[in-house]
Amino acid sequence: MSLAHLLLRQAQLHPDTPAIFLGTRPWATHAQWAGRSAALATRLRQAGLQPGERVLLFMRNHPRYLELLWGLWWAGLAAVPVNAKLHPREVAWIAENAEARWAFTSADVVTEALPGVAVQIDVDSPQADALLAEPPAGPWPEPFDAPPDHLAWLFYTSGTTGRPKGVMLTHRNLMTMGLTYAFDVDTVGAHDAMLYAAPLSHGAGLYAIPHLMAGARHVVPESGGVDPAEMFELGRHHGPLTTFAAPTIVRRLVEQAQAEGLTPDDAARSFKTIVYGGAPMYAADIRRALDVMGPRFVQIYGQGETPMTITALSRGMLADVGHPRWAERIASVGVAQTPVQVRVADAQGRPLPAGELGEVLVRGDTVMAGYWRNAEATAATVREGWLFTGDMGVLDADGFLTLKDRSKDLIISGGSNIYPREVEEVLLTAPGVAEVAVVGAPDPEWGEVVVAFVVGEPGTALDVAALDAHCLDQMARFKRPKRYVVLDALPKNHYGKVLKTELRQRV
Ligand code: AMP
Repeated sequence: MSLAHLLLRQAQLHPDTPAIFLGTRPWATHAQWAGRSAALATRLRQAGLQPGERVLLFMRNHPRYLELLWGLWWAGLAAVPVNAKLHPREVAWIAENAEARWAFTSADVVTEALPGVAVQIDVDSPQADALLAEPPAGPWPEPFDAPPDHLAWLFYTSGTTGRPKGVMLTHRNLMTMGLTYAFDVDTVGAHDAMLYAAPLSHGAGLYAIPHLMAGARHVVPESGGVDPAEMFELGRHHGPLTTFAAPTIVRRLVEQAQAEGLTPDDAARSFKTIVYGGAPMYAADIRRALDVMGPRFVQIYGQGETPMTITALSRGMLADVGHPRWAERIASVGVAQTPVQVRVADAQGRPLPAGELGEVLVRGDTVMAGYWRNAEATAATVREGWLFTGDMGVLDADGFLTLKDRSKDLIISGGSNIYPREVEEVLLTAPGVAEVAVVGAPDPEWGEVVVAFVVGEPGTALDVAALDAHCLDQMARFKRPKRYVVLDALPKNHYGKVLKTELRQRV
């Protein structure tokens, strides 16, 4: 069974229900979506594309993204989703490495020809119209009968060092990820609607799978991206939405709710669920988000190599304010999701007891088939079925995982280990601080010293002496920053992750 069968099933069950929207405008019913995707599949196969071949999707968020994706799966092809904001040289490298002969692009992102790509189609062109033109209504041709380990999604990791590697995700990986959403993340039904503000080329796009499984609606905002005012407005139009948001987007939604003077009940009219993840969420930020917007948050922790599926911190756990360990739990990433085992291990991969710090390992049906044409990297990362995530963490006796900084982020000052996250959590509770990132700087006396990059709330002038006093009041002396650098904004990558490498270079 392939992921395309999920669309066929909805098209047979609910042909005439609107499935895809562009902003407030209906774009396709399930039958239209299936018709277009099936027609595209037939045309791509007629053009000579063979099952297993890779097709690049290098475009901004667009309702056709979903039609293309399911069209590729219908034909047995693999999608290579590329973030629309990548540099042309980065995209060129991906196209070449994936050996993609076809690419679908949008005019606003493409600046150069892609090496090795023989057919490049603008998603808004008449050529794309012709490829996606619907045949008469069903019956639709059967989707390609993909074996479970057939490649579906070749995702290039945003790795901070070296060339990006292609993570091979199979139909089985994505089917498992989709099914477990209903157990670990949220209930989902036909009345729900998923809003794609974050890039469809990443985890947000994969959440189309559980929403299609449930026959829900899919909404692509007109802006194609993150515009908090538009997101609230779309919720008021469609009814409470579900969306996936990196912590930086959550922060912007909270600011929007405050700017509009909304109560948690008002926020509930726009959003049913905001799933956050992809980068650390600080305890102070999630507390504020819960206060302003009410209990509509769920955290997930995942990685390209086991997409969206390592742990989850449910709405109920976040709302359980009376629990004796609530404060620790909201700073954790929650518990293992249903289809995976999660373990914290030493450098040899041996499991460590609760409370000890080690590398986070994951095993289960969501773990990638390997890195594309890179047996060496695969062997180093997946050992005896266990994915070595590179993330450092601690499990407690109840199974809650708290991530610590990656080993390369750890600061060793005067022989003592300092976890940047600890210092960041404290600084974020100081008045007037909006964002913070802590790194180590080389120091002749201490080996390394703690440097804090701080961004103030709009309209506040940060007082470094007051920040220092706040730190002295809350943490061990040796952990407090020796230097503060006040910035207007932190450098971030396209997914909203703070670029600590860049900050380290500055010091
Ligand atoms: P990517 O493969 O680009 O999706 O990046 C995955 C990495 O993001 C993980 O290995 C973690 O380091 C980080 N990450 C993902 N989710 C979370 C989370 N909920 N909290 C903290 N870090 C996260």
